[in-house]
Amino acid sequence: MATRESRPSTALYEKCMKKMLDNWPVEAGRTEGILETFREVYDEVGEDRFRRGVQDIMQSSEIKFFPPVAVFRGYIPAPIGRTWWRNPECPDCFGTGWQEVTPQFRKPDGTWQDREVTRCRNANCLKVEA
Ligand SMILES: [Zn+2]
Repeated sequence: MATRESRPSTALYEKCMKKMLDNWPVEAGRTEGILETFREVYDEVGEDRFRRGVQDIMQSSEIKFFPPVAVFRGYIPAPIGRTWWRNPECPDCFGTGWQEVTPQFRKPDGTWQDREVTRCRNANCLKVEA
């Protein structure tokens, strides 16, 4: 367990959470619970990985509402310096780490819908060397 002294600073955490709460507004009563739950993740993974997870999830077109913490965890990158890989047998991304949510197609008006992808969230996909 991390000691209180080793906790990362709160400034970056608050900035990240403000970005997400601006992006996906929640009912007033939910904010405090969300801040607490995500804080645990922040303390666990550290500010750099947390920040990158926030950047990544905010670019995902699939997330329309404030994400549950379990979904957010899928966007946190593996620790730097650790060997990690995607499962090539993964039925959702076939080892690419990306899942297609919208295929590219031609719309009735003749313009193209861009292909949209999101990080693979299959629980057995990301392998990290201990
Ligand atoms: Zn996968």
